[in-house]
Amino acid sequence: MIRLQQIDKYFGDSHVLKGVDLTLTEGSVTALIGPSGSGKSTLLRCVNLLEWPQSGSLQIGEESLTFGTDPKQQRQAAQRLRRLTGMVFQNFQLFPHLTVVANVMEGLITVLKWDKERAHARAMELLSKVGMAHKAEVWPATLSGGQQQRVAIARALAPSPKVLLCDEPTSALDPELAVEVVDVLKQLAKEGTTMLMATHDLKLAASTAHQVVFLEHGSIVESGEARQVFTQPRHPRTRDYVSTLA
Ligand code: ADP
Ligand code: MG
Repeated sequence: MIRLQQIDKYFGDSHVLKGVDLTLTEGSVTALIGPSGSGKSTLLRCVNLLEWPQSGSLQIGEESLTFGTDPKQQRQAAQRLRRLTGMVFQNFQLFPHLTVVANVMEGLITVLKWDKERAHARAMELLSKVGMAHKAEVWPATLSGGQQQRVAIARALAPSPKVLLCDEPTSALDPELAVEVVDVLKQLAKEGTTMLMATHDLKLAASTAHQVVFLEHGSIVESGEARQVFTQPRHPRTRDYVSTLA
């Protein structure tokens, strides 16, 4: 289980996350929706500690961390927590100087200190899962956006994170290429991968998410079971947002 409690994040004077509480149950998919600038990316970045909130707490499985204390004293907890998350970015962010398979092996070797054989076997397993094993030896730049994103998903999953964080995973892709990424995410959802996914794509959200969280101006306006939030939103703001994208 992953739990964020009372997360506050400021950039200078700007209060970007305001007391956010969020619980993800193991094996479930949560879609984080909301207008641009509402704080979705920042919230994801707080879960993998690319951003450091000013207050609140984060728990992933057995590991937890309370913010607002000296980050130096929390370094080891932060390192352990970071290893429990995997992140997929809007723009793939593959390493251009590494082949596809080397991209997937990289974290296993440098962070987890796996030997090459073991890392290679694991990378090939993940590349097969996303339908990219046949491209293992090519450079990322030779792939389509949809293929690059599938490799990025394999890379994020390689160290078996407790939660896969996806930030607008399909929004840089043309619709026909987005489909292949959506199919992979749907398959992962079906297999019980715990995911937190920021997305504008309500079809993607509807086809994968169990829980939907609507964020606006850094606050959770509404959260609930996906079907309920989409078909019978309780809050007028959610109703407006969902209807504009329907
Ligand atoms: P979303 O992903 O929902 O579009 P973001 O989390 O990217 O929203 O941004 C939330 C708010 O935080 C925005 O007002 C944005 O301008 C601001 N913000 C995001 N990152 C930074 C940063 N590194 N420095 C200053 N402000 C930032
Ligand atoms: Mg964003």
